[in-house]
Amino acid sequence: MEHRKVIIIGSGPAGLTAALYSARANLSPLIFEGNQPGGQLTITTDVENFPGFPEGIQGPKLMDEMRKQAHRFGAESKYEHVTSVDVSKRPFTVHVGETVYTADSLIVSTGASARLLGLESEKEYMGYGVSACATCDGFFFKDLEVAVIGGGDTAMEEALFLTKFATKVTVIHRREELRASKIMQERALKSGKIEFKWNSVVEEVKGTEENGMKKMTHLVLKNTLNGELEEFPVQGLFIGIGHKPNTELFEDILDMDESGYLVTKGKSTYTNVDGIFACGDVQDHVYRQAVSAAGSGCMASIDAERWLAEQGIE
Ligand code: NDP
Repeated sequence: MEHRKVIIIGSGPAGLTAALYSARANLSPLIFEGNQPGGQLTITTDVENFPGFPEGIQGPKLMDEMRKQAHRFGAESKYEHVTSVDVSKRPFTVHVGETVYTADSLIVSTGASARLLGLESEKEYMGYGVSACATCDGFFFKDLEVAVIGGGDTAMEEALFLTKFATKVTVIHRREELRASKIMQERALKSGKIEFKWNSVVEEVKGTEENGMKKMTHLVLKNTLNGELEEFPVQGLFIGIGHKPNTELFEDILDMDESGYLVTKGKSTYTNVDGIFACGDVQDHVYRQAVSAAGSGCMASIDAERWLAEQGIE
């Protein structure tokens, strides 16, 4: 059975930064990269807001560079998906099917996934007009008309952010009452650039293809009250129906909030189980940026290193 002082579950900016710091602290971390090595950034294109890259960098490239940097100091990756953990006693055990690893400490950086509508055409136009992240892609919709789906704080925040670029933003919501907090509702209503389309759901995303490049042109919307269909011309579609933290592995093990995000103590990355630390989007539904995730990955590694030292493991 392979044993490590630190096992990191998840390989986005949080996990790979935790790996870099733990490796440089001589803790020989093992990273389980999971089903999407590199995390959510590997499905974006240009990352223009990660400091240090004035010309921007491609998401997958940024993650490759982070991984290389961690490996350079002795971190090791396994391209496997953890199936269960047992933290009832130490060392903890991490299971990948029948294979078992043991660890003195765990860093959880399993991230979150944007919720999608689940339409075939949404998948088809993802990256070609459809996006689940205004902060990542809003800039590409300068002087275009866009729609945002959802009625919660995420949708309001996305819509407000998009008013900086788009000529018109339409929030499409399946009811006629917003779920968003009063303050966010007021901001959206006051902005003057956001229109609301109530009682409507997207049936299909439609577009054209020129020289092999797909481009969305309109949505087919269904009125939820009378079932009527209409074509709604728009060049961008942002899905703002929330995120789902990837915390299934830790149900009944780690403390979570009502939305399933891991709860960390105060300003630290400590969870409710001694020796388990959480960082990145799995414990952050507020900032959710690559750079803030990387920062919390650094914190988790430092917390783990100090905790291990307190246990006499160095
Ligand atoms: P919410 O669950 O609050 O809202 C999701 C919205 O999407 C709801 O309006 C819901 O409709 C709609 N929706 C869900 N599924 C579908 C679907 N399949 N088709 C169409 N519409 C759908 O998620 P949020 O991400 O907005 O917020 C999560 C938490 O994060 C909240 O606590 C929020 O306050 C917080 N947050 C805070 C921010 C801030 O303070 N700046 C920014 C972002 C999030 P319905 O209302 O009908 O259920």
